[in-house]
Amino acid sequence: MSHNYHLGVLLGDAIGPEIVPVAVRAVDAAMEAAGAGKVEWEQLPLGFEAIEKFGEHTPMSTLKALEATDGWLLGPHDSASYPEPLRSTLNPSGTIRKHFGLFANIRPARSFPGQDCVKPGTDLVIVRENTEGFYADRNTFRGTGEMMPTPDMAIMHGIITREGSRRIAVEAFTLAEQRRKHVTIVHKANVLRMTTGLFRDVAREVAKDFPDVTVDDFHIDAMTTHLVRRAPDFDVIVTENMFGDILSDLSGELAGSLGIAPSLNSSADRAMAQASHGSAPDIAGRDIANPIAMIGSAAMLLRWLGSKHDDTAVARAGDLIDRAVEATVTSGTSTPDMGGASTCSGFGEALVDQIGSLV
Ligand code: ATP
Repeated sequence: MSHNYHLGVLLGDAIGPEIVPVAVRAVDAAMEAAGAGKVEWEQLPLGFEAIEKFGEHTPMSTLKALEATDGWLLGPHDSASYPEPLRSTLNPSGTIRKHFGLFANIRPARSFPGQDCVKPGTDLVIVRENTEGFYADRNTFRGTGEMMPTPDMAIMHGIITREGSRRIAVEAFTLAEQRRKHVTIVHKANVLRMTTGLFRDVAREVAKDFPDVTVDDFHIDAMTTHLVRRAPDFDVIVTENMFGDILSDLSGELAGSLGIAPSLNSSADRAMAQASHGSAPDIAGRDIANPIAMIGSAAMLLRWLGSKHDDTAVARAGDLIDRAVEATVTSGTSTPDMGGASTCSGFGEALVDQIGSLV
């Protein structure tokens, strides 16, 4: 029997209202084509829209409504443009990740066959710890880990815990078991000995429970050179919050464009689809943004729902979206960042046709 889902939609700012509706259409088309259940969508205010209505970028009413959903799509936000004091507060995605304890940020970077890119053949996944590390705006229970004792001095602290490191390492090794069975741990334990040293040591301990998975580790600075030289050699990369954020932009671009890099934020019982890229205000309103990252994130959410609810039809819908995206690009339809001439909405239409023809 097919399972129906209640999913939230947060359009976000700048290119968000252009790319998120394309992902929603793709999900509806794929669910129908895969013989999966129906999705009931609930659009909720966030970002500039919420600031206008409620004076807050992430209202409590939005968080409460999300609690009642099975998962949601989050568009990118342009928090750097919010009016003060909102600009200085924890941004919308940080607020949501913290509220729901979404500790795992899974960011694949995969190049499309035949597509021109810096590192063809890249197929890796960054598994980024999402709740602690060196992002001081979200690594404390109350307040932030950043302070300014005088106008000329700013201090921040980073936090790495054994449990935070263990649970993200388990995610990474579990994922590697389903892929090419290799995990690379990224840290800076030669300098940040106690913090990222703890992260590396805990990940190495977790590795012992996964004897089929090989493991190595690199310092973050060396890792950037390894990625630029030989990104296709990597499988799963596990690292702390800030290192993961930077490495995923790098690997997304090496694999093609930041516009194709999807991501899923999850805990054991919640998941949020969110493209790896930001809100790209420089190209907003022109219908030229690449929707692939947002669409791919929605596909990841469907597969996550599939494994949570033991629902093969919804997982099939997620796979169908990925296959249709690849077929659409291979057949010559892509947005300008990938060298094509398609609009964002035009790509969405071609994708829906492709989903229909793949079934
Ligand atoms: P944030 O800090 O919110 O992650 P950012 O400062 O890293 O944002 P982005 O908004 O991700 O920056 O944009 C970086 C560059 O990538 C910009 O030139 C932008 O136009 C481009 N870009 C980002 N997303 C897309 C997309 N979906 N399609 C095309 N180009 C994109």
